Amino acid sequence: MMKRAKITTFKRGMATASGRSVALPPKTVAPVYQTREHRAWRDQVIARAGARCEFVDENGERCKKSAPYHRLFADHMVEIKDGGPLHDIANGQCLCGAHHAAKTARARAARRFT
Ligand SMILES: [Zn+2]
Repeated sequence: MMKRAKITTFKRGMATASGRSVALPPKTVAPVYQTREHRAWRDQVIARAGARCEFVDENGERCKKSAPYHRLFADHMVEIKDGGPLHDIANGQCLCGAHHAAKTARARAARRFT
């Protein structure tokens, strides 16, 4: 009887042609962000903030970036992926690009450890 060859497994997934260990999904805008309801929510969140980033640093200073000089994002404080309500104005905050990117990265990192 022939001995079976040992199957080698990769712990981090197979390398792909792109050189990444895991292929990233294509960049598309989720349909949920293109609805009229979502645009209304976003507009309300940004208007409530006076069209200014709502990030407050450790010294209590609020970020000074505002529209129309800076692009603003309506951010879900509790992200949809974490079960946050999609169109609840109470779950929205207005953030500039830098603070939105930092917050999104933090939420993603936190999710990895739960
Ligand atoms: Zn900001």
